[in-house]
Amino acid sequence: MVKTGEERRVTGEDEQRMCSICRREFDSAEASSLFAEAGEWLAGEVWKDAGQLCPKCLENRAKLAMMYLSEYNT
Ligand SMILES: [Zn+2]
Repeated sequence: MVKTGEERRVTGEDEQRMCSICRREFDSAEASSLFAEAGEWLAGEVWKDAGQLCPKCLENRAKLAMMYLSEYNT
C-alpha cells in the first residue's frame, strides 16, 4: 500500500495533518519540545518532509539523527 507523491497535500499552518510515520492525526500547532523543534528543522533541511510528521515522531527521529548525523549538529 505505498502511495507516491502528492496525496494529502494540505495548505495552511493550522490544518490537522496525518503523520506519515505513525498515521496519527496531529495539530501542527501542538506544543513542541526542543527535540521536536530540532526534528522539524531536520525534516526541512535533511529529509524534505517538513510538516508531515507528528511532534512525537519528529522528536524520536531527531534523537536518532543527533546520534548519527553529527555533522548537522555543530
Ligand atoms: Zn507520528
